[in-house]
Amino acid sequence: RVDAFARLGGDEFALVHSGFERLDGVAKWVSRMGARISQPVRHEGRELTVTASFGIAVYPPGANDPRRLYKQADLALYQAKKSGGDTFRFHVKKMDEQVQERLTLSREVQGALQRDELFLEYQPQLTLDTRRLVGIEALLRWRHPERGLIPPAEFVPVAESSGDMVRIGEWVLRTACRQARTWGEEHGRDLNLCVNLSWVQSRVPGFPGLLERILAEVGLDPGRLELELDQTLVARTGTELDRLLVALTEIGVRLSLDDFGSAEISLDRLVELPFDKVKVDQRFVQSIDCNNGCPPPVAALIAMAKKLGMEVVAEGVETLGQLEALVAEGCDYGQGHVFTRPLSVAALSAALRHGEIHRGSPEGEVADGRVIPFPALLER
Ligand code: C2E
Ligand code: MG
Ligand code: MG
Repeated sequence: RVDAFARLGGDEFALVHSGFERLDGVAKWVSRMGARISQPVRHEGRELTVTASFGIAVYPPGANDPRRLYKQADLALYQAKKSGGDTFRFHVKKMDEQVQERLTLSREVQGALQRDELFLEYQPQLTLDTRRLVGIEALLRWRHPERGLIPPAEFVPVAESSGDMVRIGEWVLRTACRQARTWGEEHGRDLNLCVNLSWVQSRVPGFPGLLERILAEVGLDPGRLELELDQTLVARTGTELDRLLVALTEIGVRLSLDDFGSAEISLDRLVELPFDKVKVDQRFVQSIDCNNGCPPPVAALIAMAKKLGMEVVAEGVETLGQLEALVAEGCDYGQGHVFTRPLSVAALSAALRHGEIHRGSPEGEVADGRVIPFPALLER
């Protein structure tokens, strides 16, 4: 939203814009404006081209007084001109680097699916007390040809703001559902599959229909699929999302509130929304110090979810001490390095065959010689 636009004198203009959530959003907007300005215009039979340089200052984290903010933008403008003009610069060099990095990622992520660079890993979810396998979370990975493995926390937000996450998310759903179906057939037992849903997917019109088609095409029982929605997303969006959640439960899939405790959400809404499960945010789980049991906030989160009739998963459980403290508070399930890291298809297939999982990575990198048995995998 442009709040103010003014000519400062000569060929210098100032623009005040609020409401950007990300730096690359600012960069894209400015680039579009630059591209429009530099379109040739015809004047008295001649073609004229004008270009513009942009200096950008951002608050926060920049100066909180307008004069200094303007000064910062002016310094950035000087840098933009010095580098040849027809471009933009942020007032902080690190911001420039961050933005360039995101723009590069955003270009590259577009073709990652076609180039076959994306794949999924799967992390088991177990009952905390008996270590029975209750579910598997599909986690997206990008093997970049030059940069190696890029974590989803880095590229998912980029793919979300470019819109690519719609296609990628659909691929994740289809691939994971197919894999869950295969595992179900191979091992004669039905596995619950958890898939993360991005906010851009939640806004695709007709998403429930698409999901139904995928499930039918793959032959997976909707009751076996659990969609994970981030609490930040749920806290930020209102009624349209709530309607979507109801439509999803009508298909028969289960809903899980991811990163529970990480964003403010009214208790009213929490009671109303059709979540079956919450996943206590890792930051809370990792605040559990082995000797002192669960700190009150963690205990309160677990108690609240249970009182509201939801199942509780702790994510990011790393130590046996944390595990015991969580059991003592009545937490149902856990997911984390204490059991296993996310596994490749091959490693999880082997675990399902042998009924046990080696702690640490499938390559044994973190394996410390201990094997945590996976008893229920042997049961039918
Ligand atoms: P999330 O859904 O909350 O996933 C849990 C994250 O915790 C995963 O990180 C997992 O590898 C990590 N984790 C599991 N156990 C432990 C542990 O004991 N200690 C620590 N420190 N970490 C543990 P990952 O795979 O890097 O994914 C990060 C986030 O990226 C996910 O958080 C999710 O929000 C997003 N993401 C991953 N795959 C997808 C996807 O297919 N679609 C969408 N929309 N988002 C995805
Ligand atoms: Mg998740
Ligand atoms: Mg989480």
